[in-house]
Amino acid sequence: MSNRYLNNELLVFNSLSRKKEPFKPVESGYVGMYVCGPTVYSNVHLGNCRTFMSFDMIYRYLLHLGYKVRYVRNITDAGHLEHDEDEGEDKIAKKARLERIEPMEVVQRYTVDFHQTLEQFNLLPPSIEPTATGHIIEQIEIIQSIIDKGYAYVKNGSVYFDVLKFNSDHAYGKLSGRKLEDMVANTRGLQGHIEKKNPQDFALWKKAEPQHIMRWSSPWGDGFPGWHIECTAMSTKYLGANFDIHGGGMDLKFPHHECEIAQAEAHSGHTPVNYWLHANMLTLNGKKMSKSTDNNIYPHEIFSGENRIFTRAFSPSVVRFFMMQAHYTSILDLSQEALEAAEKGYQRLLEGHKRAQTLEALGQTSSFNVTDWVDRCYAAMNDDFNTPILIAQLFEGVKQINLLHDHPKGMTAEDLELLRTTLSTFTFDVLGLKDESQQDSGHFEKLSGVVELLIAQRNQARERKDFATSDQIRDDLARLGIQLKDSKEGTTFSLS
Ligand code: AMP
Ligand code: ZN
Repeated sequence: MSNRYLNNELLVFNSLSRKKEPFKPVESGYVGMYVCGPTVYSNVHLGNCRTFMSFDMIYRYLLHLGYKVRYVRNITDAGHLEHDEDEGEDKIAKKARLERIEPMEVVQRYTVDFHQTLEQFNLLPPSIEPTATGHIIEQIEIIQSIIDKGYAYVKNGSVYFDVLKFNSDHAYGKLSGRKLEDMVANTRGLQGHIEKKNPQDFALWKKAEPQHIMRWSSPWGDGFPGWHIECTAMSTKYLGANFDIHGGGMDLKFPHHECEIAQAEAHSGHTPVNYWLHANMLTLNGKKMSKSTDNNIYPHEIFSGENRIFTRAFSPSVVRFFMMQAHYTSILDLSQEALEAAEKGYQRLLEGHKRAQTLEALGQTSSFNVTDWVDRCYAAMNDDFNTPILIAQLFEGVKQINLLHDHPKGMTAEDLELLRTTLSTFTFDVLGLKDESQQDSGHFEKLSGVVELLIAQRNQARERKDFATSDQIRDDLARLGIQLKDSKEGTTFSLS
């Protein structure tokens, strides 16, 4: 393995055991990780982004440690019904009906939005991004296997998972800590679930009514898969019947993940996942950010500053830094003050980083032990990916850089190099932050190249006395906020 820290103990908080456990992958050096992706019926809000950013940080750290990671994050493009229920309209089909477009146009539009948004936040793409509609056959096969093993029943063209039967020889509710007896005691009657033996049963396959357009043929007639079975089918297909990490937002623990465990155990007899990781919610005004209520903000509204919540814009890296300052299992509330503080903090980190590139170490000894500091950075991340502690350590590194700036004799060249690379590795590779000022200067270089090219074209036009063209170039650039200034030395430009 490439990283000497791979052999240090990485502790992860496992929602299944409710404690931190040493991380031991099924196959040494390899990690299989599945994260529930979005249901692509609307734009992703900042809350959704927080969950995906948390797992991007985890993915990045595992890669940094030298693991070969297969990261599967699906796209839910069918089967997710309104209010996460077994009755009602498909979220995507409903949007298609309201917008008078094809369901697959809805899927395409919001999948593109999802990708563009995550790219702005500098998320790495997963290794595989499978779709529910691309895995109907795999879902049907698993449903059939669950029926064959006696844990599901067919009713009027739909298939339901028999939770009571499953619970008689397995434990239903172990992830969420719910007891089936309590669930049964708390539900009166079947409340609209006329086809189910028990209200706790959940749909594996639903018969499609004539008006339901997203439909596929199956051994039980035309229909569509239930919401939970897609993740079981796709995780089993790409990661096997028993894999390392399954992630998602805290709100998916029940029923979605509980049902995934039941389905997989009924199908393969194996517990599917060794470590269940849940990312906590982003709140706004103290309430969960959510698609179904208006309590949300979209990333583009933050980047442009055009929103009703904040008085100015914040960049993607500032928002990402704000997210990384909280532990992924803690609730995090979004506010202008918090973003402003994050902006200041991030600037300080970047300045320290830039200053580190310009320093030369002249000393022989150091009162600051850089190797111990590096160990503390890894210890933070090895303690269930504790990014707030890591960031505190990075600030400690910046403090040493600033001290060294004032007293160049304070560190050996070797130590300075270690400090420099560790600072940059954790900031950019692990936390996934970007130096946006450098990115802007890259853009500026390109822009000046293009303007210089137009200036040359304008000069040629003037030489051949084609003043119409030369004036047009000048006026068109002025409309774009680029002013040309002619002098004896030549033409220069300025941006307004
Ligand atoms: P959905 O498209 O609704 O299935 O959500 C996609 C992901 O975003 C899931 O993992 C959810 O748990 C997560 N999510 C939804 N709301 C929030 C929130 N307010 N904060 C953090 N994650 C969220
Ligand atoms: Zn899922």
